[in-house]
Amino acid sequence: MVTAYIGVGSNLGNKAQNCLKALEHMAQGSHTSVEARSSLYRTEPVGNKDQDWFVNCVAKIKTPLAPRELLSFLLAIERAMGRERKEKWGPRVIDLDILFYGDMVVEQEGLTIPHPLIQERRFVLVPMAELAPNFLHPVLGKNMAQLLALCPSEGQEVRPLEMG
Ligand code: ADP
Ligand code: MG
Repeated sequence: MVTAYIGVGSNLGNKAQNCLKALEHMAQGSHTSVEARSSLYRTEPVGNKDQDWFVNCVAKIKTPLAPRELLSFLLAIERAMGRERKEKWGPRVIDLDILFYGDMVVEQEGLTIPHPLIQERRFVLVPMAELAPNFLHPVLGKNMAQLLALCPSEGQEVRPLEMG
């Protein structure tokens, strides 16, 4: 079993519910189990600014799947939840990214782990630092709290989501 961290995001429909639904998918069956999740955050869109704010969180999972199999499993959840792939970085019902897979480094066609943009994205670093502040990035050699402190916050607001 490997511990992995999954970035979860949505900016279409009921965004918080979509994130929680994706976690339910990961908690079902034997492919992945959910050990913990961060709080939900409302986050400013990065890249394509002309879209609604996102809801993001990070899930800490355990899995017997190899990295490729885990990616296929996550893409199947995205499809099951009705994601349509149109423009890159455009609105989506659900986005599931493999942030870390243990401390393994993977560079294959269509799969890069650690996810290459972690250190630039506060919507990933804030929930990662909440869940695992001391977790060391296997390539950059800095932990999540350090990466968050180094990440520019300009145009990247991340706010705790008020529930209810
Ligand atoms: P993005 O998440 O960058 O907005 P998509 O969710 O549409 O874009 O992902 C496009 C492709 O990114 C996926 O089909 C997958 O092959 C590839 N990819 C590469 N590395 C990863 C990773 N670590 N986690 C998830 N997808 C990845
Ligand atoms: Mg993705």
